[in-house]
Amino acid sequence: MEDHRYTERTVETAVRLGHAHPGAVAVALQAYLHRTPADLERLVEAKVGIRLCKGAYSESGEIAYRKRGEVDAAFARLANRLLTSASYAMIATHDERLIQHLLKQIERVRRTPGTYEFQMLYGVRRELQRRLDAEGYRLRVYVPFGREWYPYLMRRIAERPANVRFFLESLARG
Ligand SMILES: Cc1cc2nc3c(=O)[nH]c(=O)nc-3n(C[C@H](O)[C@H](O)[C@H](O)COP(=O)(O)OP(=O)(O)OC[C@H]3O[C@@H](n4cnc5c(N)ncnc54)[C@H](O)[C@@H]3O)c2cc1C
Repeated sequence: MEDHRYTERTVETAVRLGHAHPGAVAVALQAYLHRTPADLERLVEAKVGIRLCKGAYSESGEIAYRKRGEVDAAFARLANRLLTSASYAMIATHDERLIQHLLKQIERVRRTPGTYEFQMLYGVRRELQRRLDAEGYRLRVYVPFGREWYPYLMRRIAERPANVRFFLESLARG
């Protein structure tokens, strides 16, 4: 999911495709957007799988939560709702506190294995990735690849300047 200018058309397309091909379509939603609870309901109704992430763009306070605590609380509320829905649930975060909370929720609502997964970026929080995998949870690792790596890298750096350090460290490691 890109920035808010694309949200409506992306959700709308996913809903349309979801109705035409139930269970075969999935889309990312950003917990920081105020509109996301309503989008989640539209997508659940259309049986679209949902990747829930915090949101990576710098959006205005009118359309998105900007404080970390508010974004985390919104993520937890949306994930709780997603886990009680029939949609395939993809929990895309490296935030261990949230993951611990959701593991309890998964147990509480008796979410069936195979109907949800955790997702993280390649190389980020590897220990946590290994631990979840060893504990038997399904974990998908996001690996961007292709020729257009340079604009992709620049967009990620623009969203999160701290990525410059991670990038330079991994270059130095070889
Ligand atoms: C599989 C996947 C798909 C995504 N798809 C989208 C999308 O479609 N649209 C969108 O807007 N956003 C997307 N994101 C990005 C997401 O919105 C967040 O910006 C990003 O994941 C950081 O938030 P967090 O939940 O990990 O929590 P945070 O609280 O930001 O991070 C928790 C900890 O994880 C580590 N960490 C997090 N991100 C990075 C990083 N990039 N490099 C190094 N360490 C890091 C840090 O140690 C940090 O303290 C995606 C993320 C994942 C994992």
